[in-house]
Amino acid sequence: MTHTPALPAGTLPPTPISLDFAPDAPTPLDSRFSILDRVAEGSLEPIITATAEGSTAARKYHIWTIGCQMNVADSNHVAAELEKIGYGPTNRLDDADVVVLNTCVVRQAAEEKAIGKIGSLKPWKQARPNRTIALMGCMVGVKPSPKLQAGYPYVDVFMPPSEATPLVNHLRQAEIDAEMAAIERDQLERRFRLQDDAQPAPGATWGQSIKHLALSGPAPVAAHVPIVYGCSHACTFCIIPFRRGVERSRPVAEIVGEIRGLVEQGVREVTLLGQIVDRYGYDWREGGAGLGNSATVAAHHGSADGGFDLADLLHEVHAIDGLWRIRFLTSHPNYMTRRILETVRDLPKVMPQIEVPIQAGDDVVLEQMKRGYTRGEYLALIEQIRDVLPDAAIHTDVIVGFCGENETQFEQTLQLLEQVRFDKVHLARYSPRPGTVSERRLLDDVPEAEKMRRHKLLEAQQEGISHAINLARLGETVEVLVEDEAKGKWRGRTRHNKLIHIDPPAGNPPLRGRLVEAQVTWAGPWSLQGRYIRDVSPEPMALQGAGA
Ligand code: SF4
Repeated sequence: MTHTPALPAGTLPPTPISLDFAPDAPTPLDSRFSILDRVAEGSLEPIITATAEGSTAARKYHIWTIGCQMNVADSNHVAAELEKIGYGPTNRLDDADVVVLNTCVVRQAAEEKAIGKIGSLKPWKQARPNRTIALMGCMVGVKPSPKLQAGYPYVDVFMPPSEATPLVNHLRQAEIDAEMAAIERDQLERRFRLQDDAQPAPGATWGQSIKHLALSGPAPVAAHVPIVYGCSHACTFCIIPFRRGVERSRPVAEIVGEIRGLVEQGVREVTLLGQIVDRYGYDWREGGAGLGNSATVAAHHGSADGGFDLADLLHEVHAIDGLWRIRFLTSHPNYMTRRILETVRDLPKVMPQIEVPIQAGDDVVLEQMKRGYTRGEYLALIEQIRDVLPDAAIHTDVIVGFCGENETQFEQTLQLLEQVRFDKVHLARYSPRPGTVSERRLLDDVPEAEKMRRHKLLEAQQEGISHAINLARLGETVEVLVEDEAKGKWRGRTRHNKLIHIDPPAGNPPLRGRLVEAQVTWAGPWSLQGRYIRDVSPEPMALQGAGA
């Protein structure tokens, strides 16, 4: 039937639209669907694409459609595409993970309904920011206008009519991002567990601290090995020196022995860990540093005393047969020396990745944090890193909304990140930890909403930078240490510590624990995809450890 609702005075009648929304009429969609929720009959009433029985899918979509038969068909097409990637329909907005609004602007009233609906979804999105809102149909047109996008910043995807691909790509990317984030979180947790639990109490013997050797099941391909426990600095926001005690470097022989044991079990890559990893060995000659802070402990900027340091330890670890890759973290800007950088450059097993936290880009904030360096000194260090290791991946940590941080100071951080163009930035919003200096003596005066705004700005900027850096690798051949298999692809890390998924080669030989070359075929901000080229493992498969 055709509906011609009354038009506002002075409005020309639009071309009549044939709308056949009879509830019992078959729809082009799969027979499990029916149009259930018609608020009232008529072309200007929205319909909800759903199923009477409900869906058992873990993730749900909800499609709200207004307008002509073409819009209904488009919605059905989107529903079918979402079904293909594992989503099920729901007619309850609260149960949905994805909402699609399919809009119509032929009549003023339809447009107003759509605008009202978009507005009503703002709190829905705020309640769970990982939900997805997609806007499609005539309101978007062939290409969304910047004005429309700016007007609804909480809408994730703007889709032209009849086009489901942008939403499907967005959801797939979100899935990859969530997976990557979970992997990173897991790694970080493992790292903290090792630092928290594996260390002996201050004063106890080192003997049985090595929990890694009690591995059960197949050994991981990559493992973390603590080399320095505790921290003797006292950045004002940090609880670590109080919880983990003063800085203690582990004996060289113990570290080397532990890594040999790991290699025998199939581990091929180790990451040497310390709160300030490049202070390895300093505590021996400083007579056991007491608690101080970075501002009062003199920066060495070079192996000033000529004692055994991280560079020497890297040489010792590098000599271990069967170990293919070495990384280390976390560095402090005051202790990352040219000697360490040159060692990274000269030892092929040491990966070109440096993790050196800046925390804030403004000198006053850095002083409040008692970090012990200025913005200028940090930038000089970055210059030195790029001078010695032009291709290194540089990672950093940033805290937003530290006590007293004003807009201008925050912009200094934003600008520094743009200037340096880090491969990865770990962002955290400041929250006072009980017992720390900042909690006791400084005012946590940046409102939570403002911290969130600054966090999002940094996050969005960094996403663009990381993406551009990764896109530059498209077509390149990269070396990958394969760690596991996920969703029919092999997954590993490049020398620059980028996660990469590789399509299985012909015959799908087992690649776990192998060093392979792959050509980068796709690059997102947080991961890469690639095509297998060849196995370049230093040892044939038969000689590898049991876990490989
Ligand atoms: S943030 Fe400062 S106090 Fe905390 S572990 Fe790092 S250097 Fe030590």
